[in-house]
Amino acid sequence: MHIVVLAGGIGGARFLTGVRAYAREVGAEVTAVVNVGDDAIMHGLRISPDLDSVMYTLGGAADAERGWGRAGETWAVRQELAAYDAQPTWFGLGDKDLATHLVRTNMLNAGYPLSAVTEALCARWQPGVRLLPATDDRLETHVVVETDEGQRAIHFQEWWVRHRGDIPTRRFVFVGADAATPAPGVLDALGNADVVLVAPSNPVVSIAPILAVPGLRAALTGGRAPVIGISPIIGGAPVRGMADKCLAVIGAECSAAGVGRLYGPRREGGVLDGWLVDTSDDGADVPGVTVRATPLWMSDEVATTAMVRDAMELT
Ligand code: GDP
Ligand code: CA
Repeated sequence: MHIVVLAGGIGGARFLTGVRAYAREVGAEVTAVVNVGDDAIMHGLRISPDLDSVMYTLGGAADAERGWGRAGETWAVRQELAAYDAQPTWFGLGDKDLATHLVRTNMLNAGYPLSAVTEALCARWQPGVRLLPATDDRLETHVVVETDEGQRAIHFQEWWVRHRGDIPTRRFVFVGADAATPAPGVLDALGNADVVLVAPSNPVVSIAPILAVPGLRAALTGGRAPVIGISPIIGGAPVRGMADKCLAVIGAECSAAGVGRLYGPRREGGVLDGWLVDTSDDGADVPGVTVRATPLWMSDEVATTAMVRDAMELT
């Protein structure tokens, strides 16, 4: 059996620990197609936050408390950069994490595509699932905001990390999406999938940029594999992060049903066949989609694996 998971950063990473455990039980193979819309260049280095969250988490090296970066991190370089007032001072890069960005940037500069770089980095971390960037091409989420000088587009990281989403916001734009192609292996994985799981990741800035890669959405909607999504919203609130702010920008309701409807039923141009919601959201109605309620708190690997089992039962 082959399971494909569409994933963002921390929500995707946690969910994948459960998918990996489930896959080990049943002898399945897992491919994660990961968002690159958050990617940015900081201090000359290419940062891939979602790929790294997944890689570090599955590699057992993530800082669980902070939710991003390495456990046992030190910050000497950040302090030195701050002493130079080197911009952006609002984006923290840990010393250990920097080694990853140095390797990635060197390989990209040498001409390797991001997918090959990711494979090389994973040789160290052994995540136990195949990690693929959604695309090797530049696809960056930008955010159109209102400033005193009128409308301006800023990088997603500036909106998220510097402004905490607390700035009048018009819309998200996936720069480069039109010309992007799925990374090598992505379409094959979707074509050979027995099931596609949409992780409980941010639907607006983690999953939407993946689906914005031309050809990828069609492979999903036109494929033989059932597509099952897991709600990132429990009881009307994101468990962590700012999905509520992102949903408000696009005028979608911040609820399990609201996100289910945003994805929509596969047979009507959407992506979902099934939608898993938390028990507190039992009764959520998504027309055209089979909805089931089960505990969706990813408190540990056992609970997350149980979620995955429930998702598989929806197929
Ligand atoms: P990011 O790229 O690091 O922001 O991570 P993702 O987009 O992959 O995941 C962020 C989303 O994960 C948030 O919108 C949360 O709603 C969701 N999330 C985090 N923890 C949990 C959990 O325990 N259960 C569920 N259902 N969703 C969660
Ligand atoms: Ca992210």
